[in-house]
Amino acid sequence: MRTVITAARLITPEDSIEDPVVVIEGGVIAQIAPRSGADTRSGLRFDFPGCTLTPAFFDVHIHGSAGRDVMEGTREAFASIGEFLARHGVGSFLATTVTAPVDATLRSLEAMSTRIGANHDGARPLGIHIEGPFLSPHKKGAHPERLLQTPSVGLFDRIWQAAQGKIRLMTIAPELPGAEELIRHAVGFGVRVSLGHSNADTASARAGIQAGAASATHAFNAMRQFDHRDPGLLGEVLANDDLFAELICDGLHVHPDAVRIFWKAKGPERAMLITDAMSAAGMPDGMYKLGELDVRVMNGKCLIGEGTLAGSTLTLDRGVRNFAEFTGANIEDVSQLVSRNPARMTGLEAEVGSLAVGRRADITVLSPKNEVVETILRGRRILNP
Ligand SMILES: [Zn+2]
Repeated sequence: MRTVITAARLITPEDSIEDPVVVIEGGVIAQIAPRSGADTRSGLRFDFPGCTLTPAFFDVHIHGSAGRDVMEGTREAFASIGEFLARHGVGSFLATTVTAPVDATLRSLEAMSTRIGANHDGARPLGIHIEGPFLSPHKKGAHPERLLQTPSVGLFDRIWQAAQGKIRLMTIAPELPGAEELIRHAVGFGVRVSLGHSNADTASARAGIQAGAASATHAFNAMRQFDHRDPGLLGEVLANDDLFAELICDGLHVHPDAVRIFWKAKGPERAMLITDAMSAAGMPDGMYKLGELDVRVMNGKCLIGEGTLAGSTLTLDRGVRNFAEFTGANIEDVSQLVSRNPARMTGLEAEVGSLAVGRRADITVLSPKNEVVETILRGRRILNP
């Protein structure tokens, strides 16, 4: 089937094309051209006047949504999550675990691994992000302290095997004993390493990066506070031009002023937006589970105990709008934070994160206010109600 799409603008995101025509054949982009030079006569035609086409978003840190958690590992859970994400502009994601008992984690990973790369109608899980168990008890956030583990190559290997090698990203605290060895080991398997849930001082943060870490997990959150005499992991996040960094831009996890500092420091090449969303995303306030923990959701805020933030109910399209509003950045720049940068960080840039001939037709259609009008995945339209 041949589909012809027109819009006001297209962001590749290397380039921006005014009045574009995109031709899709068999779910793949067959042509991208300015309207003047394109053959728009035959095929199904969709016009999006005033709208911008961007690569479908890629969320590298998401635990669940629509009442479901990725650790359920079932087809139904992934179908519900994928469909919900697609309506919010997301084309692909890394299914993210939370620290759980080792046996339960291994069982979950086995089930999750069968969903990775499987054909779903909605957003596609491209791999697994293990957030835990190698995290600092001082910065545990929503991860139960008694379940945290000292970095261990042996345990990582069991995790890797249970997950059938589908692990794409691992969050780890670099100051823990054995962390450097494990980072090197994981990088040797092609896993990308992200530093987080960490109390690391500058020396430990640098050692983690030296060992091969490429990114930082939810910058500012579950990280030792900035100290100008020993800037620690957060200092490294802000000062190291090679390090990618995630940000939860819901206006709750990070103050808009800190978002502006983040933008000045990381810029359009290294900043990434994530949701860290849990099952409560897209659901009413109430009680939900994040791994073993009971999470109270009030006004969209996910809380455990005495007000610790545990995950979010953020959707990535809202994160994009918040970021544009907090920083004044234009959509050409912001779209890189949810497409090209996560694709590069994870090494999946040949597969996702840009619009070009021969690529899967995974496209997000944004209104002039950056609202998702619809998402086109493999050429199929998913409407945002
Ligand atoms: Zn976290």
